[in-house]
Order: sequence, then C-alpha cells, then structure tokens
Amino acid sequence: MLKSRLFPTVLIELFFCYHWAMKFIVLGCGSAVPHAKRSSSAYWLETASGTILLDFSAAAIHRMAQENLDWVNLDAIWISHFHLDHIGGLAPFLFGTRNAPETANRTKPLKIFGPQGLEKLIKSFDEANDYKLFKQPFPLEIREVGPLEEFEILPETNAAVMKTPHTGESLAIHIRDREGKTLVYTSDTGFTKALGAFARNVDLFVMECSFFKDKPIEKHLELAEAMFLTRYANPKRAMLTHFYAEWDIVDFAEAVKKFTPPCVVFEAQDGVRLEI
Ligand SMILES: [Zn+2]
Ligand SMILES: [Zn+2]
Repeated sequence: MLKSRLFPTVLIELFFCYHWAMKFIVLGCGSAVPHAKRSSSAYWLETASGTILLDFSAAAIHRMAQENLDWVNLDAIWISHFHLDHIGGLAPFLFGTRNAPETANRTKPLKIFGPQGLEKLIKSFDEANDYKLFKQPFPLEIREVGPLEEFEILPETNAAVMKTPHTGESLAIHIRDREGKTLVYTSDTGFTKALGAFARNVDLFVMECSFFKDKPIEKHLELAEAMFLTRYANPKRAMLTHFYAEWDIVDFAEAVKKFTPPCVVFEAQDGVRLEI
C-alpha cells in the first residue's frame, strides 16, 4: 500500500525534474545585417520560474511564433544594449500585445530589464506617434540596472550584470535559476578578460563571435578571443553566436577544433534548442 502511494509521487517528481530543466532556444544568431538564415539577436530562456527573452530583435516577434513558444505568457525581457538588432522588436511587440486577442485576458505583469536609459528610449518611441505602448491589458514594469547590480529577474532566479566594452550602456548578464543552473549571455562585446571570470564554470556560456579573424573593429570578438575566454571561463558548454556573413564560408567545427577548447562549443543557428 505504501509502495503504491509513493510510486506516483516519485514519477511526478521525475517528470518535473525533467520538465523544468532550463531550456535555451536560439531565435536569431545573426547581426544587424539582413541574412537569409540568421535573423538578429534574440534567445528564449525557459526556467523553472518562468520565461525570459534575451534581447529582442525585430525578427523575434515572429520567430517566437514560428518556434511555437508561449509569447503570450512571456514573463521577462532582458535588453543588453540599445543597438537596434537587440531592441528593435520591443516597441512593435508592445504594440502587438496591446491589441492582440491572445493577451486581452492576461493579468500577470511583463517585466522588462535593461541598462539605464531603457525607459526613456521606450517612452521616446511611444511618444513619437502616440502608440500608447504603456496602456497594456496587463501591468508593464520597466527596471533599469547598472553594472555589477544583482537582481531577481524571475522569482527565485537571480541575475547579475557586468559592463562590457561595446557601447556606453552594454551589459553581459549572468543568470542562476532556482535549481542552481547557470548561464552567461555576453551579447555584443569587445574583448575583456573580465568576461571569462564572470562566466567561470557556468553551465552554458553564450558568447558573441561576430568575426572569424582580423576583426575590423574592437567592439566585437573574433574566434581566437572567444576561444581564449572559453578556456579562461571553463564552462560546461559554450555557444558562439552573433555571426556576420564572413562566417558563411568557415567550417565552424574545424575552426574551433584548432583551439582545443575545454568543452563542447556549439555554433548557434536559428532554431537550435539546448537543455541546460
Ligand atoms: Zn548586435
Ligand atoms: Zn551592438
């Protein structure tokens, strides 16, 4: 009798353990430049306490729907910086949720986190044509965060951010879910060893690698730098993303192998799904 009572409980626990593994889905692994296979920056992160969209390109609105993701109930949005390939979809999304039948009955808040200046930017866009983006069926909360700040991005899911050498406001984010799984998303960044320390031993290190080699600008990474940071951080797994078209002719696996990385290094592709 005792056995038959316990057995279903164990099964349910196993189901939830499996079901609530953190899931990471690449919506867009390209740059701001139009590309046939790589749309601009957006990543869907599903945790035990809810969902977060990491950056919000213009393409992300429809990419979420294409991937059958529950955008109606999205809990939080992280904006890493204000380049339009990372925020260009936010105002159009709010314009959509304002009018969509799918969100008409939503009551839980949507929280938007990002660097200082985020609220002013959204308001400027809103006021440019009186879009009424802040008049949603549900509460909208905007929270600006500064370098080295720690905050709860979802219930029992903590985030910390680090300044990156890319734009004045750009931030990398470290997320730890309630089960202790960790992820770092650098977004766009130039090289700094501090990123390796910030991502030390994380379960998934998602790093930009805009260029293959001989990068034309300092404010992005190329492969040798990304591989240095991977070695320095020693994550369980790494993923490179934010590719410019020069990557189209590179054999990614061969190129990465030459650096003998300390872990598996995935090439981001739109639609790739990982469990963390
Ligand atoms: Zn970018
Ligand atoms: Zn950028």
